[in-house]
Amino acid sequence: MSAEDSPDAPEPLPESTSDAILAALCDLHHPVKVEMAEWAAAKLVDPSLPERDVACRFWPEGWELAAGRGVQGTMISPAHGGSGNDVVTALLQFEGLGYGCADAGLVFALSTQVWTMQPLLAQFGSATQQERYLPGLADGSIKGAFCITETDSGSDTFAMATTFARTDGGTDGGSDGDGGGFVLNGHKAYVTMAPEADVFLVFATSDPKLGQWGVTTFIVDATLEGVTVGPNRPKMGLRTTPFADVTFDNVELGPESVLGSVGSGAAVFSTAMEAERAFVLSAQIGAMERQLDEAVAYTRTRRQFSQPIGDFQAVSHRLADMKLRHDNARLQLYRAAALFMLGRPSMEAAALAKIQASEAAVASSVDALLTHGARGYVSEFGVERDLRNVAGGIVYGGTSDIQRNIVARMLGQRRGGRDQDRR
Ligand SMILES: Cc1cc2nc3c(=O)[nH]c(=O)nc-3n(C[C@H](O)[C@H](O)[C@H](O)COP(=O)(O)OP(=O)(O)OC[C@H]3O[C@@H](n4cnc5c(N)ncnc54)[C@H](O)[C@@H]3O)c2cc1C
Repeated sequence: MSAEDSPDAPEPLPESTSDAILAALCDLHHPVKVEMAEWAAAKLVDPSLPERDVACRFWPEGWELAAGRGVQGTMISPAHGGSGNDVVTALLQFEGLGYGCADAGLVFALSTQVWTMQPLLAQFGSATQQERYLPGLADGSIKGAFCITETDSGSDTFAMATTFARTDGGTDGGSDGDGGGFVLNGHKAYVTMAPEADVFLVFATSDPKLGQWGVTTFIVDATLEGVTVGPNRPKMGLRTTPFADVTFDNVELGPESVLGSVGSGAAVFSTAMEAERAFVLSAQIGAMERQLDEAVAYTRTRRQFSQPIGDFQAVSHRLADMKLRHDNARLQLYRAAALFMLGRPSMEAAALAKIQASEAAVASSVDALLTHGARGYVSEFGVERDLRNVAGGIVYGGTSDIQRNIVARMLGQRRGGRDQDRR
C-alpha cells in the first residue's frame, strides 16, 4: 500500500525540517558535530580523569568550559540567554561531545540538564519560573537535578511515597492559584547531579493511593530548610557524575513552586520521557563512533602471527558489527527526533531508539574490549571505562524491559492489571 492510499497518511515533513534531519542522518561528518567534537577533544581534556574516575569526582572546570561554549544553553531560547537551537542541532552537538570528550561523566551531567531539566521548565514553567531558572541553566551558573525514583519505586514510578500536603490542611490538589503553600516529605534515590544541584524537580503525591492521579511536580531550591543531599554514591560507571539520594523533611514550598499545575505530575513526567529518554543517549552514540575509530586504528597496528590483527576475519567482522550497531542506533535516534520535531507521537520510536542505543553500546564496548585484548581490560588505556560508562544506559530513563513493554503495548499487546511501562 502506498503512503497516499493510507487513510492515516501523515503530512509530509516541512522541507527545512526534512533537510536538517536528512543532513544529520546521512552526514557522519556533519559540521555541527565535527566542530563540537574537535572543540571537546582540544578543550575538555583533563589529565586527572583516571584519578577522578577512581575517586568519583566531578570536574567543575569542564562544566564551566562547556558553559562558555554554550553547551548548557543550546536549546534555551535567546530571550533566556540560550542559543535557541532545535533538537537535531543539539543532538549533533551532543554526539560531537560524546565523541570528543573522554569524561563521559561530565557529558552525562550536561546531557541530563539539556534533555531532562530544561525541556520541563521550558514547556511547563510559568513566565516567572522561566525567568528565574532558565538564564542560569543556560549559562551554567545553575545546575538542576530530576528526582522521581525512590528506593521502593523505580520502574513502578507512581508507587512513590514522597508526599506533599497543603499548608491549609487539605491533601488534594485543587487549583494551585489559591495562594496556599505545600509541605514536602520524602526520600528520592539515585539522583544524578544531586550533590552539585542548585534546584531539584521533585515528583510527589498528595496520596499514594491515587497512583498517577495524585502526582505533582515541584521546583525545590537546594538551599531550602529540610532539603538534605546524601553522600555521593560510588557506581560502576559515569563515576565523575555526582549521584546521591535527597531527603525532603517538612520542606515548605510556596504556590509558585508548582511546575505545571497541581495533579499534572504524571503528564509532566510522560512528556519529559516521551522522546528525551532516547535523546539523552546521543552523546553515547558519539562515544560509540569514537570507540569504533580507536578499535579500527588498533587493529591496523597491533600485529600477531606476523600480520595486523585486523586481517583476521573474526576481528574485522567484529568491527563491522560495531559499525552496524552504531549506525542503527543513530538512525533510530534521528527518526525519533524527526517525529518529535513534527509534534507527532514519538514514544514508540524513542523506546526503540533507547533500546538500540543503550544495548548496542554495551555490546560494542564488549567487542572493543575483546579487540584490545589485555589492553582492553586494564584501566590505563581507558577501553574498559567505556563498558562501565555505557552500562547505566540500559537502566536509567527506564530499563530495557520497560522500553520493550512500551513497544509491545504499541503493537497492541494487552496485559491484565496495572500499566507496566510507566518509565
Ligand atoms: C546512572 C543512573 C542515573 C540515574 N539518574 C536518575 C535521576 O537523575 N533521577 C531519578 O529519579 N532516577 C535516576 N536513576 C534511577 C533510574 O531511573 C532507575 O534505576 C530505573 O528507573 C529502574 O528502577 P530500579 O532501579 O528501581 O529498578 P526496578 O524497577 O526495581 O527493576 C529491577 C528489574 O526488574 C525489571 N522490571 C521492573 N518492572 C518491570 C516490568 N513491569 N516489566 C518487566 N520488567 C520489569 C527491570 O527491568 C529490572 O530488570 C538513575 C539510574 C542510573 C543507573
